[in-house]
Amino acid sequence: MPDFLSITLAGAPPPLTSGATSNLKWQWLDEGVLMLTPHRACSQSVVLSAGIHGNETAPIEILNQLVSDLLASQLPLAVRLLVILGNPPAIRAGERYLTADINRMFGGRHKNHLPADEARRAEILEQKVGEFFAADPQSLRLHYDLHTAIRGSHHNRFGLLPYRTSPYCATMLRWLKECELDALVMHTAAGGTFAHFSSEFCQAASCTLELGKALPFGQNQLEQFSAITAGLRALASGGQLPARSTEAMIYYRVVKSLLKQHADFKLWVADDTVNFTRYPQGTLMTEQPNEHYRVEHEYEWILFPNPRVALGLRAGIMLVQMDENEIPQV
Ligand SMILES: [Zn+2]
Repeated sequence: MPDFLSITLAGAPPPLTSGATSNLKWQWLDEGVLMLTPHRACSQSVVLSAGIHGNETAPIEILNQLVSDLLASQLPLAVRLLVILGNPPAIRAGERYLTADINRMFGGRHKNHLPADEARRAEILEQKVGEFFAADPQSLRLHYDLHTAIRGSHHNRFGLLPYRTSPYCATMLRWLKECELDALVMHTAAGGTFAHFSSEFCQAASCTLELGKALPFGQNQLEQFSAITAGLRALASGGQLPARSTEAMIYYRVVKSLLKQHADFKLWVADDTVNFTRYPQGTLMTEQPNEHYRVEHEYEWILFPNPRVALGLRAGIMLVQMDENEIPQV
């Protein structure tokens, strides 16, 4: 199997769509969807995805290196592994998306979109992930969806937990801490993200990981992500991670989605506002006909501010800080 990313970028399947090494079997399931199965028995099924947004290249490079090392037997494989490059046409174009944002379409929301490539892709990814997890019902199910943020951030590496009605997986929470994430955000409502889909519909322990700022291929400073890279390699190979050596992770939960419901919508933050900027109580954040939002808590922090989203989508989310023990876990 030649280089996974090169094959995906070429836009045609590899000459052979399955094969084996001394450690594993591999199977090309669809464009940018590769399943790796160890010869020996294992107890975890892991989905690692990147490139759901095509211009977020650092995680694509990290996953591609991981696949190369597994296929070259430089790293043993200890879990069933599904590696996904989410939106190949957008990756080729170096764009976030071509017609619409795939990471708002999961959980069947793709049916509300015109039948374009990206809606079809979301449907295919749901199928492939569903089949992958269903094939080994006994194993621990994990899904990490890797992204980079559009803007700068007070926390360079952070995770987003999808909303759940049941507790979060303690194994996952421990791994997130060992990967030296700076912050972890807990959603408090369902969403159309890939991680929410695998959590709600496949009962996986899932997290969206945001790793720094989006840059073109070749310009990423991958050293910034050495702890995440080590974490992914340990996850795939059954290795141990050293204890966290950076400051304690900071925990947030979502208190408000700033929905753009009118063409005349104002988000009162500067264009260069970075993620996790803090605002005091009473600050006017948004205005649109018949609605405005002012900060309700003593302080709230903004995440993903973007007034240019389509109508009906969120133009930002507001957070409050919380203690680690406020995250229900089992
Ligand atoms: Zn993204």
